[in-house]
Amino acid sequence: MKFGGTSVATPDRIKRAAKRVAREVANGHDVIVIVSAMAGKTNELVGWVDQISPMYDAREYDAVVSSGENVTAGLMALTLQEMDIPARSWQGWQVPLKTNGAHGAARIEDIPTKNLDEKFGEGMKVAVIAGFQGISPEGRITTLGRGGSDTTAVAFAAAFEAVRCDIYTDVDGVYTTDPRITAKARKLDRIAFEEMLELASLGAKVLQTRSVELAMRYGVKLRVLSSFEEYDETAGTLVCAEDEIMESNVVNGVAYSRDEAKMTLLGVEDRPGIAAAIFGPLSEAGVNVDMIVQNISEGGKTDMTFSCPVSEVARAKQAIEAAHEAGNFEYGELVVDDNVSKVSVVGIGMRSHAGVAAKMFKALQNEGINIRVITTSEIKISVLIDRKYMELAVQALHDAFELEKAR
Ligand code: ADP
Ligand code: ASP
Ligand code: MG
Repeated sequence: MKFGGTSVATPDRIKRAAKRVAREVANGHDVIVIVSAMAGKTNELVGWVDQISPMYDAREYDAVVSSGENVTAGLMALTLQEMDIPARSWQGWQVPLKTNGAHGAARIEDIPTKNLDEKFGEGMKVAVIAGFQGISPEGRITTLGRGGSDTTAVAFAAAFEAVRCDIYTDVDGVYTTDPRITAKARKLDRIAFEEMLELASLGAKVLQTRSVELAMRYGVKLRVLSSFEEYDETAGTLVCAEDEIMESNVVNGVAYSRDEAKMTLLGVEDRPGIAAAIFGPLSEAGVNVDMIVQNISEGGKTDMTFSCPVSEVARAKQAIEAAHEAGNFEYGELVVDDNVSKVSVVGIGMRSHAGVAAKMFKALQNEGINIRVITTSEIKISVLIDRKYMELAVQALHDAFELEKAR
């Protein structure tokens, strides 16, 4: 059972979450509970790090931002103990949840079950794990990237072969789009792993992308549900294999990523190796390049456009300028537009249906929204548009594909 930030935001909410845990214990289960930091805590900690050191040392970033989860883990264990349930808190290093050394975005390598199993054997009924954190090969605290407690939860479910992995959050399931953007968003009873993976990686923050990958790989029975509503066995959304879903729409979801930037290198020489010369240094600088478009060339010169998160623009610029100064490639000008958002439609039905792109573009045209960049894959279409139209675009696409109606 994983409880997100809003579900553990106050001592009262921790009590409410603990009651759900108690019900599972009463049903005869040993429970592993993963907790996030209290709502807003991680943002506050990240803010402090930025304030003191904008180009921070990632090891110290992790030392600071992992601390929020330690507080909630201890408080949850205490709350359960007050209810006469034998519970113990565990920080990442105590389990130990072993990760690689990629501070700030570490990947889980191993979760040995021995320590917890021993304690369960001695009568512990609930292990409360501080989510989002682990320990590197050097023995330092790491974090798994924002939203990483979801991944902690799924990884524990896989390692301990749990019956289920329930993700408790502030919405009662996965919706056709973020319910904060349109009241017409519809809760899905089931969603295929592949679709959830695309929605998550395209910006729907309800589950961290990596958690969906792990659930898919290890066949974890993953459910998203609200910690604020009455519980029943069918509550929430089940994330499951495609063949467990009877019928589905061609498009099942609209996702958005608000803070994107578009960077264009004007007048780049058009020759073999130019893309490698540009994107190699960007990758080394840790810039997450997303969409890439190369124009048709004229007179041996072309324009190269790519997108990345706004927060990485400074690093991207630095990398390009350094590669340019080192003589790796020539270009005329670097134009940055950091006022764009990405909006995407997702659906496994796209594999066998034509016309989805045309319908998407028409819906945007009807709202007078100009498309800056387009990318497609087997089950998604993404566009980059001006940020001021983001909400409008999500609503228009939700309407155009009639997502408020189940098939
Ligand atoms: P937690 O703190 O529990 O991890 P998050 O804030 O990380 O919760 O994720 C839940 C939020 O994800 C919701 O409040 C909602 O605004 C947002 N969200 C975005 N897209 C979707 C979607 N398709 N379905 C449900 N929630 C979504
Ligand atoms: N507290 C961390 C974050 O806000 C991890 C999580 O909540 O999943 O990113
Ligand atoms: Mg989250």
